[in-house]
Amino acid sequence: MNTDQFVNRHNGPSDKDVQDMLKAIDASSLDALIDQTIPAAIRLKSPLNLPEGLSEHAYLQHLRGIAAKNKLYKSYIGLGYYDTILPPVIQRNVLENPGWYTAYTPYQAEIAQGRLEALLNFQTMIVDLTGMEIANASLLDEATAAAEAMTMMHGLRSRDAAGKNSFFVSHECFPQTIELLKTRAKPLGIELVIGDFKTVTLNDKLYGALLQYPAANGVVHDYSEFVGRAKEHGMTIAVAADILSLVLLTPPGEWGADIVLGSTQRFGVPMGYGGPHAAFFACRDAYKRSMPGRIIGVSVDADGNPALRMALQTREQHIRREKATSNICTAQALLAIMASMYAVYHGPQGLRGIARRVHLSAVALANELKKLGYQIAHDTFFDTLKLTHTDNVKIHALAEAAEINFRYSGEGLGIALDQTTSINDLNAILAVFAQAAGKATPRLSESQVTASAMHLTVRKSAILNHAVFNSYHSETLMMRYIKRLENKDLSLTHSMIALGSCTMKLNAASELLALTWPEFASLHPFVPVEQATGYQELIAGLDAALCEITGFAQMSFQPNSGASGEYAGLLVIQAYHRSRGEGQRNVALIPSSAHGTNPASAAMCGLSIVVVKCDQNGNIDVADLREKAELHKNDLSCLMVTYPSTHGVYEESIIEITSIIHANGGQVYMDGANMNAQVGLTSPGNIGADVCHLNLHKTFAIPHGGGGPGVGPIGVAEHLTPFLPSHPLVKTGGEQGIHAVSAAPFGSALILMISYGYIKMMGGAGLTQATRMAILNANYIKESLKNHYSTLYQGTNGRCAHEMILQCIDFKREAGIEVADIAKRLMDFGFHAPTTSFPVVDTLMVEPTESESKDELDRFCEAMIAIRGEIDEIIAGRADKKNNVIKHAPHTAKAVVSSNWDRPYSREQAAYPLPWVRENKFWPSVAKIDNVYGDKNLVCACPPIESYL
Ligand SMILES: *Cc1c(COP(=O)(O)O)cnc(C)c1O
Repeated sequence: MNTDQFVNRHNGPSDKDVQDMLKAIDASSLDALIDQTIPAAIRLKSPLNLPEGLSEHAYLQHLRGIAAKNKLYKSYIGLGYYDTILPPVIQRNVLENPGWYTAYTPYQAEIAQGRLEALLNFQTMIVDLTGMEIANASLLDEATAAAEAMTMMHGLRSRDAAGKNSFFVSHECFPQTIELLKTRAKPLGIELVIGDFKTVTLNDKLYGALLQYPAANGVVHDYSEFVGRAKEHGMTIAVAADILSLVLLTPPGEWGADIVLGSTQRFGVPMGYGGPHAAFFACRDAYKRSMPGRIIGVSVDADGNPALRMALQTREQHIRREKATSNICTAQALLAIMASMYAVYHGPQGLRGIARRVHLSAVALANELKKLGYQIAHDTFFDTLKLTHTDNVKIHALAEAAEINFRYSGEGLGIALDQTTSINDLNAILAVFAQAAGKATPRLSESQVTASAMHLTVRKSAILNHAVFNSYHSETLMMRYIKRLENKDLSLTHSMIALGSCTMKLNAASELLALTWPEFASLHPFVPVEQATGYQELIAGLDAALCEITGFAQMSFQPNSGASGEYAGLLVIQAYHRSRGEGQRNVALIPSSAHGTNPASAAMCGLSIVVVKCDQNGNIDVADLREKAELHKNDLSCLMVTYPSTHGVYEESIIEITSIIHANGGQVYMDGANMNAQVGLTSPGNIGADVCHLNLHKTFAIPHGGGGPGVGPIGVAEHLTPFLPSHPLVKTGGEQGIHAVSAAPFGSALILMISYGYIKMMGGAGLTQATRMAILNANYIKESLKNHYSTLYQGTNGRCAHEMILQCIDFKREAGIEVADIAKRLMDFGFHAPTTSFPVVDTLMVEPTESESKDELDRFCEAMIAIRGEIDEIIAGRADKKNNVIKHAPHTAKAVVSSNWDRPYSREQAAYPLPWVRENKFWPSVAKIDNVYGDKNLVCACPPIESYL
């Protein structure tokens, strides 16, 4: 084996493992296995036309070359993106630490207490800074958060308010935010009224409003008069706010806001040419059950100790399928954790110092600019100045030469300062303006900045009066705090996370290494494209490779998650139908086995959903599909289909299915969550799909980050390329492109390098080999477990795809053991549970991925078999149905070392059920968590300091 080849580092099984596994599953060769698994009719005719993989070393050299093509100007463009200082202690211990970034969404809360605590800190910080009552644990970006607010408020209208269908948007909101509102309003029939809040005539058709605080041009308005008027008309108020300014300004919650949202990017998260960053979303307590996204809450564990978990899960938006008002699933957990850590590290004093310094820099700059004869449009600002009557052509040329970006607009020029703006930077800015005015350059001194008078009224309410924000201000303390939380969480650094449909493969260090290189990290998303040539090359390269892999013509990288990709793809389909005069097509056929985000996305697009049955083998019932497609042939928009199916099988009938849809005028939307079973062997384009999203955070090696970031680009066939999403500030997408679907033109551009690196280093043959290995690993598990667990569905030759569903329904009846109990018991063995009860209730869906070695698969199978043995003990009556080792799982160290051990099984069986567990014991930090208690007594923030006394 050549260890210089990255594919041999990425794939888990050694050559010998492969031989042993093939023997175990009774396949004569890997080729034979693939032939038995994937129907011949859908196989690609030729190998992927992608270059051979680079070694890790060669790849990083190649990437240096790309990085050098990005130009690092100082950007004062603002509009929601600001340079910031990522504290090295957070960079090294969180962002660059696989213990944090390889974790999964904290569905198994007992082994996720660390990130749950960090996310609770995030919610607490947001509640404090916004002055609201409850906050969620992040959304995708500020613009989509604003759109979520608009639709949430729409859903909250009282029943007698059917005529209330208009939404007011201040024209001083960020342009990309207004664009997103247009995207999301249209399919729901919401009418946008965009205008000046001071002069707009309010009427009873308006149900809500969105204001920007401070406004895009920097002015800090007093909105109280407007809010008073709006409330008289029964309107609800959403405010998009700047997080750093809230440290100083009176929070919107104190002047009547019902929802406050924004971005936490400038709390230590690099701009990264657009993302990923965590948006925040806070609202009044009365709205908590309608709030989109995940909420972390406090509950208790089986021993009565406090324990955290995701609250109100039964309310999770996408579970409501066609009744959903939001489809958010993957959010921005890792980025929210980083922003919360920034607040923990700086504390209230530190944040006030940072905010003050940014503000006073703006004041000092404004004073000097006025002396040079420039006109500043407003007097009350935080960090952004708007200059009017400027000679933008002249200033632009001088600024360009000084490598400075301002925001230029028809009305003047904007300068947004940030945490990194130094006295030298201020003087460089002044030099540009002095030259343009033909005057001598003034020199500002640090003492002039600090001695400036504030240009705003400072908030009276305290911020971050909680122990966690007032305890860890030295690096030693901070490092240990981060480590303490990390140690409570199970991640890929411990063991395989075999979550079906989630593809928890290796996230290689070499793929992630360049994330903090300033040439990538420090680029503002709205810089002129000439400054981002490196990024453009990387994006184009990834686009081309993904087109080769999917068989499509073009990609859009805007969507920040798989679900966001679904939404974008469906809008593209709708735009296509409209362009052909078939705008009436509004029926989406969705198989009953589909992921909940599918119907949720369709509902958000205003589509009407018709469910297609599955047969007893788990396949789409083709007769039912045909009947429904023909019935709706005049109004059929599309089919949403996952391939291989969520049941883990390559349906033989897929070509027939896609042709039925096309024959009836519909388009085929493919959910690409299972792309890991296609790469190099078949492709969406090859089997008749017109559009497909990819989850780069599944198939293409971007880590899950404990619940995000994600990237959900869509690929489309040639006829749909004109409709790919556009952007108001940077040219992207097609000629007749739909409105933007995310705030940044290329979505979470920074992390595209991970997938780019993955493809570059694997090469075409390596990628294909990974798919083959993923299928081998899955079939090996299926075979190893066959005498203990039955696999629900399989292909005609008895093979599964890259994942399989294990039936557990009998255990419930015979032993009172539910899949959730098995999930908890696996923790005692050091494993994260597979996906529970999706897509079929009372099952476990196992997806090992190609990155796991045979040894690890064997350990997992041994654990599963041991648990099966424990279930048999209950069935045989040798163990009690309630008081047994599975029902009491997981076992904490505290429980096991307790002096009064009164369980009917030994401590060894509890904590060290198999010999190898001793070598790598992972201790769950809390016992089984009571979800119901936490939902009844909802607490979603840290207690203030007083209550500790
Ligand atoms: C993961 C997944 C999604 C949703 O993707 P997100 O990135 O979490 O929004 C949709 N469909 C299927 C089948 C999935 O597995």
